[in-house]
Amino acid sequence: MGLHERYGLTPVINAHGTYTPLGVSRSEQRVASLAAEALSEFFVMDELKDLAGRTIVAVTGAEAGTVVHCTAAGTTLSVAATMTGDSESRIAALPDTEGMASTVVLPAGHAVDYRHPVVQDVRLAGATPLLAGSDDGCSLADLEAALAAPGVTCLLLVSSRMTRGAAVPLAEAVAVAHGHGVPAIIDGAGQDFRVEELLGTRADLITVSGQKYLGSPTAGLVLGRADLVRAVRAQERGIGRAMKPSKEAIFGVIAALEARAGLDRAAWERAQRGKVARFVTRADRIRGITAGSVPDPTGLPFARVRLTVDAATARVTATGLAEALQEGTPSVWVMTQGQDRGELILELVPLTDEELELILVRLGELVAG
Ligand SMILES: *Cc1c(COP(=O)(O)O)cnc(C)c1O
Repeated sequence: MGLHERYGLTPVINAHGTYTPLGVSRSEQRVASLAAEALSEFFVMDELKDLAGRTIVAVTGAEAGTVVHCTAAGTTLSVAATMTGDSESRIAALPDTEGMASTVVLPAGHAVDYRHPVVQDVRLAGATPLLAGSDDGCSLADLEAALAAPGVTCLLLVSSRMTRGAAVPLAEAVAVAHGHGVPAIIDGAGQDFRVEELLGTRADLITVSGQKYLGSPTAGLVLGRADLVRAVRAQERGIGRAMKPSKEAIFGVIAALEARAGLDRAAWERAQRGKVARFVTRADRIRGITAGSVPDPTGLPFARVRLTVDAATARVTATGLAEALQEGTPSVWVMTQGQDRGELILELVPLTDEELELILVRLGELVAG
């Protein structure tokens, strides 16, 4: 008997992407096994963190790396690291930032809300966010002006589908921060497939989610400059105590990174393209639905499916269709940001052929009915 049945929980088919309210991702068996094996053993945790750091360096090419509880924790602790460096007294004082530079500049459109505002990750460290530019965009001149304010500790950039306004060129923004003598941090939570590209911006620290596309247990990877990564680790004697990684998560990250290093990326991408193409062909045959594939908005190496619902023909609106999918058993979740335009978006990456078949059958029933 599966967990859902045993504990009376709703079975879910997640076409919503790496969505935190649905448990984010599926771990491969080797990741699950290593994490489970770790649970019944003791370790010298510092050795384990050194091992994780070496694995991150080997797989990503970063100068240094470490693991913290999650990406949000990674952002808070990265900001803290820029404020404290390796000063024990400063680490002990946070979130009291008296005597420290504690202003964090971020482009206004990067103040994203991932069901929790990223600026709160900044405030948790005791720092104060300063938004540059507007929601429509943030020019390099806007960044120059904000970074010239007194007491700036770092620049925070976000690489995500959720940013607003004209895209901020990341490498140029990092260079502006460096021109003002402050480090730049990139929140790249769901961007593990693009981590080399983000490192190429010369950002000082990059945070990446373990549990999103990498498929580890909940964890945040922080990678970049060795002195700052050391300062992130040192926060564990301060505010980082509540954001520490578990031994099973660290082993899960190591297994997931090893799997990623061994991945035949071209074959994987081909498989994703095939999956999307087959789904689109079938969904497009349903009367009242037009299906197509759309690239990932951040440049991740797979496409999403867009269903456009013609309510007159389908006899159901996109909103009604999404609700009916969710109310069924299993409960099917899709992305609904465009539902008022008649659009639903599906991400197929973690789904099996059986699950895709079930979604197609349900779509056919709901639209015909
Ligand atoms: C998901 C996400 C986070 C938070 O990740 P956690 O690992 O759940 O803390 C942070 N920033 C962005 C842009 C995200 O998409």
